[in-house]
Amino acid sequence: MNAIERTVDLLCNSRHAIALTGAGVSTRSGIPDFRSPGSGMWEQVDPFEVASITAFRRQPEVFFNWLRPLARLLQEAQPNPAHVALAQLEAAGIVKAVITQNIDGLHQKAGSQCVLEVHGHMRQATCIRCYRVFPTEPFIEAFLANGSLPSCPECGNVLKPNAILFGEQLPTSVVQAAQRHIYQCDVMLVAGSSLEVIPVSDLPHIARRRGARVILINLQPTYMDDQADVTFHADVADVLPEIARACRAPTIEHDRA
Ligand SMILES: [Zn+2]
Repeated sequence: MNAIERTVDLLCNSRHAIALTGAGVSTRSGIPDFRSPGSGMWEQVDPFEVASITAFRRQPEVFFNWLRPLARLLQEAQPNPAHVALAQLEAAGIVKAVITQNIDGLHQKAGSQCVLEVHGHMRQATCIRCYRVFPTEPFIEAFLANGSLPSCPECGNVLKPNAILFGEQLPTSVVQAAQRHIYQCDVMLVAGSSLEVIPVSDLPHIARRRGARVILINLQPTYMDDQADVTFHADVADVLPEIARACRAPTIEHDRA
């Protein structure tokens, strides 16, 4: 069996397969890996001086200046074949949940239903003073056009997007839901994550220790490469559609029955 066949075999015979996705899944959609140093996003600025919660509270306008080009990319990005393939695997009943480090919402745009965004998202923003939560949509146009900062309709203070900044806690309920899936899963498909950002980087290791099989698809090597059952050093947007196609093919369906 080649790597694709082994992957299809693991997925199609799984009871509770889950996917864990990172920035690599959205590269083909034009979104840079902005959490990783060396991605180009941090050459001009220190991440902790711009995108940390303490920096945000001190100088939100610096954060929003940095965010603006990225926000435009996020606004215009469309799902690519990797997102579509994962949505198809979920629709086929194979993948039960997608745990993602991405804040771009592209899994949902592609049709994935159970998406756990452990680093938050940009659909809502929270007032840093009164903690009311608002949809970001009404603020986006003015922000992109002239950089005007989103402010709380109730108290006038600045709104922070619900994406998790450096130094912030991950959203508890999302992390707990992700943990439940990790404990239940028998196959974990890691796609487009270099597994460098803790605590998400530990999840495949935890799943592995509990007996799950691990499939890794990433352009660059990761610390889990030697422990995974199948490892691809390839673009997820090339490999995932092939896997989804094979999983949904009639012969494989027959094997599952
Ligand atoms: Zn407020």
